[in-house]
Amino acid sequence: MSAEEDYAVSATVEELSRGIREFARKLAALLNVRIEKILDAIDLARLAEILDIRIVNGEIIGLRVKIPSETRRGVFYYTIVGIYGSKCTCEASMIRRRICKHIIATLIIWNILNLFRTGRQLDLSKLRWLTESEHGETTPSSGELREDSRELQEVS
Ligand SMILES: [Zn+2]
Repeated sequence: MSAEEDYAVSATVEELSRGIREFARKLAALLNVRIEKILDAIDLARLAEILDIRIVNGEIIGLRVKIPSETRRGVFYYTIVGIYGSKCTCEASMIRRRICKHIIATLIIWNILNLFRTGRQLDLSKLRWLTESEHGETTPSSGELREDSRELQEVS
């Protein structure tokens, strides 16, 4: 693959925005969180700095980003998301082992990069760790959904 192909944009603006919306809905359903939580993560994704993109055989297999804390000035979280797992330096991820909003933001960036490069969305079924983290939990009631949304917030 040539360098030019690497940077070619394969999706139209309409395809991109539709792809981002569809992905947000899929992610909300898969993680059992409200769509607003995913939309918040899209805002967060705008602030992210991409540090590294891993590409194997033309496919993105993971990326590493730096995301500023929304509540603490000068604090940054480092987030790695890949086909085999995810990791973030924030409290929600490190201590409570939650899929935090930084991981969600990084997935959104990954999906946008995929749409740009190939016109295709990131295939969430390849990321088995996303659903494995749900297996230990009971069927969420509305109360637990509120709990989840709070846990996606940062601990101050
Ligand atoms: Zn995090």
